[in-house]
Amino acid sequence: MDHILALDQGTTSSRALVFDRQGAVVALAQQEFTQHFPQAGWVEHDAQEIWRSQLAVARQALLRAGLGAHQLRALAITNQRETTVLWDRRTGEPVAPAIVWQDRRTAAVCDALRQRGLAPRIQRKTGLVLDAYFSATKLQWLLDHVPGARARAEAGELAFGTIDSWLLWNLTGGRVHATDASNAARTLLFNIHTLQWDEELLSLFNIPRAVLPHVHPSSGVFGETEASLLGAAVPVAGIAGDQQAATFGQACFAPGMAKNTYGTGCFMLMNTGDTAVTSRHRLLGTVAWLGPHTPAAYALEGSVFMAGATIQWLRDGLQIIKSAAEVEALAASVSDTQDVYLVPAFAGLGAPDWDGHARGTLVGMTRGTTRAHIARAALEAIALQTADVFHAMGQDAGVPLRELRVDGGASRNDLLMQLQADYLGVPVLRPALTETTAFGAAGLAGLASGLWSGADELSALWKLERRFEPRLPAAARKAKLTRWREAVDRSRGWDRG
Ligand code: ADP
Repeated sequence: MDHILALDQGTTSSRALVFDRQGAVVALAQQEFTQHFPQAGWVEHDAQEIWRSQLAVARQALLRAGLGAHQLRALAITNQRETTVLWDRRTGEPVAPAIVWQDRRTAAVCDALRQRGLAPRIQRKTGLVLDAYFSATKLQWLLDHVPGARARAEAGELAFGTIDSWLLWNLTGGRVHATDASNAARTLLFNIHTLQWDEELLSLFNIPRAVLPHVHPSSGVFGETEASLLGAAVPVAGIAGDQQAATFGQACFAPGMAKNTYGTGCFMLMNTGDTAVTSRHRLLGTVAWLGPHTPAAYALEGSVFMAGATIQWLRDGLQIIKSAAEVEALAASVSDTQDVYLVPAFAGLGAPDWDGHARGTLVGMTRGTTRAHIARAALEAIALQTADVFHAMGQDAGVPLRELRVDGGASRNDLLMQLQADYLGVPVLRPALTETTAFGAAGLAGLASGLWSGADELSALWKLERRFEPRLPAAARKAKLTRWREAVDRSRGWDRG
């Protein structure tokens, strides 16, 4: 029983990975599922399709690993966060499509609450910015728009959950309705200081307590899977939201350690230890994870909306590269951008600027500007946006960060990672294991089930693949960041809509 099965339920696909005691991936299976866009700004998933695809890849991964479920030490879950499911406790049927984190239908509700001056109080309790992104207003919307839902919820007939709860419920044959603290921390209903659902927030968002799952430690046994599903009962022993799981998988166990994931967007999280820091730079405060016998570990989180997506735009929009991987050679064919900056505010700016009216801006071009300069400016933009978040984090935490651990698709780009080290002024560390999210969940389950003894053993499994040292002198770095901020200023407030 030396293996952990980790379910990695993402926004576009369901994946399952089997890890061994050394942290190696023994088998992997993946299935995409359908995205529904019923109206402008709406994004929905079919929760049943998510469950079916997740179960299918779990079985497939076991088959590929040549393992029976009875040979598993434990099962772990990591998931797309905030996405909201409401289902019937008796039949197990969702009462409506799941509302995905990207869905903006409740933005006006959040604006109205903000106008009542409630945002600071909500931030102090939850660590979060009052936004449609989080679960509370999505759940409220379901209760108010699905016929009969509110009355049934109040009578205890309905269950709410983020995707982890929904999977856990199904895996345990409807016996366990629970979530972990890292997922609860993304609902706007959970007080991250007391680690309890918050009465005041429940009444503010008009959510009946009867729909809520129990909140458990992220590392600990939640229940056992229904034996018929995988062939034997397996303890579900670890759950965490995807970004928190990746932080755990990157072994960022000590306060001040941080990771950045370079995917479509970037997600940076820094461990702030047992202190929930209230950000002064519009970063998010969140529970990183909660152990069975340890105090909660907290994190600061900042995201960049357009990271790898900027490279997709070079490929699909501008068509100056054929594949994302081509950007590196093209950008490296020039030694600098000749003072050209691309501010990829295509969907506004995220942390720390939070300007919904900013728009994409390309400044500084001359007759000598080529696609190579633009490609290089795109890579620089990813690294510079990350540097802004990184420095805001350091200021919020009151300690400068000493290094950054990286993962995600675009972290394979060596030039990008070198630029990143240059603009941060600290080393960038890329690990050998790229499946940090699933491994983080496996780590939480492995600790709870005794496969690994503690953080030290997990830290030892984290292996460096390549370390990028900053090469840019401090003065040049400062000048670069200042020039970048000038470019950012030119992008702001462009959209008048
Ligand atoms: P996600 O999980 O958000 O789908 P991934 O971690 O799979 O993202 O990373 C894919 C993203 O990384 C895409 O946006 C792609 O454009 C970008 N990407 C992939 N390879 C490279 C590369 N070599 N250089 C820069 N960006 C890349």
